[in-house]
Amino acid sequence: MNMASMNISIETSELIKRLTDQAEQAEAPIEKEVVCATKALPIFTALGEAFALSPRGEIIQYDFETGQADLADEGWRNFALKKAAERYPELRELTPIRVPDAVTCSACSGTGVVLETLSCGACNGMGWLSP
Ligand SMILES: [Zn+2]
Repeated sequence: MNMASMNISIETSELIKRLTDQAEQAEAPIEKEVVCATKALPIFTALGEAFALSPRGEIIQYDFETGQADLADEGWRNFALKKAAERYPELRELTPIRVPDAVTCSACSGTGVVLETLSCGACNGMGWLSP
């Protein structure tokens, strides 16, 4: 099974492309850079890196310093897809679905949040962990 890509509908793919075009035209230099480098929709930036969603449903991790763009690992991928749905509610169908044998995260008691506002680092804000 290829974890790097997922089945997304043509409609969602077109939606991501449209949102990406809008992001490219927006007055946000950082996001423009991300779009140029990744051809994907900027989701969020953290610690000198940006995460973006490609029209194929991939999460691209972009390093501002090196200019390198790679596929994000599964933890970041889940987190970024959750963030994507928060920022772009029309993309909520991409939110990772809890697998039946997942275990509830003990660090945040399944809420995905610690200290009231921070995303839980143990489960990337999901509230559960893949077995
Ligand atoms: Zn947690």
